[in-house]
Amino acid sequence: QAKRHEQHNLCFFDPGIQDAVNSRMNLETDLRQAIQDNSFKLYYQPQVDHQGCIIGAEALIRWPHPTRGMVSPAEFIPAAEQIGLILPIGHWVLESACQQLVLWSKDSVLEKMTLAVNVSAVQFRKTDFVKQILAILDRTGANPKRLKLELTESMLLHDLEGIISKMATLKARGVLFSLDDFGTGYSSLSYLKRLPLDQLKIDQSFVRDLLTDPNDAAITSTIIALAHSLGLEVIAEGVETEAQHHFLTTQGCRAFQGYLFGKPGPVEQVLSRHIITQSHQTVKRALS
Ligand code: C2E
Ligand code: MG
Ligand code: MG
Ligand code: MG
Repeated sequence: QAKRHEQHNLCFFDPGIQDAVNSRMNLETDLRQAIQDNSFKLYYQPQVDHQGCIIGAEALIRWPHPTRGMVSPAEFIPAAEQIGLILPIGHWVLESACQQLVLWSKDSVLEKMTLAVNVSAVQFRKTDFVKQILAILDRTGANPKRLKLELTESMLLHDLEGIISKMATLKARGVLFSLDDFGTGYSSLSYLKRLPLDQLKIDQSFVRDLLTDPNDAAITSTIIALAHSLGLEVIAEGVETEAQHHFLTTQGCRAFQGYLFGKPGPVEQVLSRHIITQSHQTVKRALS
């Protein structure tokens, strides 16, 4: 008994756990401060078509931290979800993304660009999610047809009717939907056909070893074929090499995102990429 008690105490005062608790509390305090100071940044990563022309971008949040450098969203989004801070953060992301769309809409070269925004399960589950998106669209004046919301399979597991109804309301306004990290979750094919999706996004874990792992090659080809037979667009994420790009192209994929076409960066970086591809096209036309 005493020994057990001792063990329990030992465990409680384990410095490793204490460190974890401390750093978690720091993270929470810092996140609240960052929201208050409006210190998050949105990075943009280009999405290109089969000719390498920019067709859109994905908005990816960044947190420049005073002592920790750029904190990755993979590190703080899950924590923000647990403590509810994802709601103000997600709201800020959507509002900033829509403001960016408005700027692009005023430029004849950029007006067709779509902007993909990651939506957290916690955000999407909120009963006022639809109302919130519509309010942001109204307030900013962004074209809903250029806004693409990225959902993940895990958020589609419960209350399918409710999810379909939320999606349908936004879809009626023109908002697009993409299923992010596709193939890593638990999508059942039967409800894939019921969801009003526009796009499947092949997860980068399948793209990574495409050329060396026949299973990844098979999965990727199958997702592309599946998307096409369901009448959906398909985009591959995490494309880093010409060889991956080539394989995906031979399988019928027509949209790509990855370091090969540009890393996430400040908005000017995406636009400079656009100018480069535009001038390539002009040069090609002039030479042909
Ligand atoms: P995701 O939505 O699947 O985004 C793709 C991630 O892959 C991004 O990481 C991107 O920087 C990275 N990536 C893009 N191309 C390549 C490539 O060629 N190679 C490799 N190795 N990686 C590539 P990031 O920006 O660190 O974001 C990680 C995750 O955090 C995102 O995964 C998304 O789930 C989440 N996230 C990012 N921004 C937001 C946001 O505003 N809201 C929410 N709820 N989640 C976000
Ligand atoms: Mg995404
Ligand atoms: Mg993804
Ligand atoms: Mg991912």
